[in-house]
Amino acid sequence: MDGCVFCKITNKEIPADIVFENDNFVVFKDINPKSRIHFLIVSKKHIHSVAHIEDEDAGLAGQMILTARDTAKKLGLSGYKLLFNVGRGAGQVVDHIHLHLLAD
Ligand code: AMP
Ligand code: ZN
Repeated sequence: MDGCVFCKITNKEIPADIVFENDNFVVFKDINPKSRIHFLIVSKKHIHSVAHIEDEDAGLAGQMILTARDTAKKLGLSGYKLLFNVGRGAGQVVDHIHLHLLAD
């Protein structure tokens, strides 16, 4: 989607510190980490937020969690948190679905 920073990253139009990629997702370091370890699992498909997931995207939503699991395993994390901010009221500032992966 035009003007979307995460579309630009998944399309490789702007750089990011990418640590993992598969057919449907790119995982990169958060530019402003809220924890010692802070990655974002970002769908290559532009979906506004969790509130905008259609039933047909149920598989993609599940794969997002599996991609977080795979990233955590690759990084050797023994414990981690997964977080979706949904909507401005919850602090979502980038309107392209992403799952935060956080660990101390
Ligand atoms: P949210 O508040 O859930 O929308 O989170 C958006 C996250 O994206 C924030 O933690 C930002 O620090 C992060 N972010 C924004 N722009 C970039 C970027 N160009 N590269 C990496 N992370 C970014
Ligand atoms: Zn986008």
